[in-house]
Amino acid sequence: MATNARRAHATPSLTLGARRTVRRSATSLLTFGQHTKNGLVHVTTRRVPRALGAYFGAKGLRLVLNTATAALVLLLPYTAATSARADASPTDVAAPSFAAVPGDDIARAQTAARGVIAGTRSPTTVAAQESRPVLVRTIAKDDTLSTMANYYDLSLEALAYANGISQEDEVLSIGHELTIPPGEGALYKVKDGDTVEDVAAHFKVDPAVIYSYNGVYFEPEHFAVGQTIFVPGATLPALKRTERTKSIAPPSTASLPARTGRLGWPVNGVITQYFWWGHTGVDIAAPFGTGIGASDDGIVVATGWVAVGGLRVCVQHAEGLQTCYYHTGAVFVSPGQNVVRGQLIASIGMTGVTTGPHVHWELKVNGVPKDPLGY
Ligand SMILES: [Zn+2]
Repeated sequence: MATNARRAHATPSLTLGARRTVRRSATSLLTFGQHTKNGLVHVTTRRVPRALGAYFGAKGLRLVLNTATAALVLLLPYTAATSARADASPTDVAAPSFAAVPGDDIARAQTAARGVIAGTRSPTTVAAQESRPVLVRTIAKDDTLSTMANYYDLSLEALAYANGISQEDEVLSIGHELTIPPGEGALYKVKDGDTVEDVAAHFKVDPAVIYSYNGVYFEPEHFAVGQTIFVPGATLPALKRTERTKSIAPPSTASLPARTGRLGWPVNGVITQYFWWGHTGVDIAAPFGTGIGASDDGIVVATGWVAVGGLRVCVQHAEGLQTCYYHTGAVFVSPGQNVVRGQLIASIGMTGVTTGPHVHWELKVNGVPKDPLGY
């Protein structure tokens, strides 16, 4: 019973567990199996010697005993390893209570616990055993999310999540620090009110995974608010795979189709902001995913991601007109492609800086922003 209690609480590391097992086994050996249920000791020190003693006499018996002792000592590391594995298994988690532990064990457990608590003061400590620690890397020139992920053998998602990055091609600022998680999973900072079960559910893992990796079953301070824990195998949010900006040189006037009339609205929606000196386009709100049509015949000249505007597409029309459509969720055409008035070129989204699904519809005439409703 005391043995079980020790396993449940005071197992700060495999080494300590193993050491304790050795001590325990050594004690058993000294008492010659009288008070232990260890079958091996029992057999080797009582039954076998008695039987062999009949054949070999007193000297032979001593030899047999010595041999048995030597064999036991040789076996100890294996016994220890088995026992340590059992100690580390999540089934030993149940109901820690220091009251059940004998006096000297309490002292030992508290000493170990103090060391662990001190460790958790570090902002990026993960006290997992036999795992790579959390590393911090200073970003150098030409480091990108994908070169770093490659270097540390991590997925883009794991590295991005550990650093609060949500976009694949987010620029890493030179000199800043990048946190390298210890493996595939989520590096997570415990928030007020979190429970292990909540966090496990959030990342779609078994709570036992969090318990065992972070040693929570041994030391509850490993799950304190502000503490960084690691959730191996966590389901992580997908990174926004941002489309590369692609563009072509403005097509010659001769290659552009003639205008068909006034510019058409890109989407049948509600105008939420008109063109004015502080707003270089017209905002039309529509449900997420609604198709965006080209305002007139023309040639697609640019697609891809821009700051603030998000994912956008631009179409060159005759007479020096160019229309652009910002904040789209997806673009369906490529630069160089001919499009006709009303042709589906993109869909309503929320990329870039926007408070709701809408298209920011822009017109430039010979490079100068104009009100698209006037053309
Ligand atoms: Zn706008």
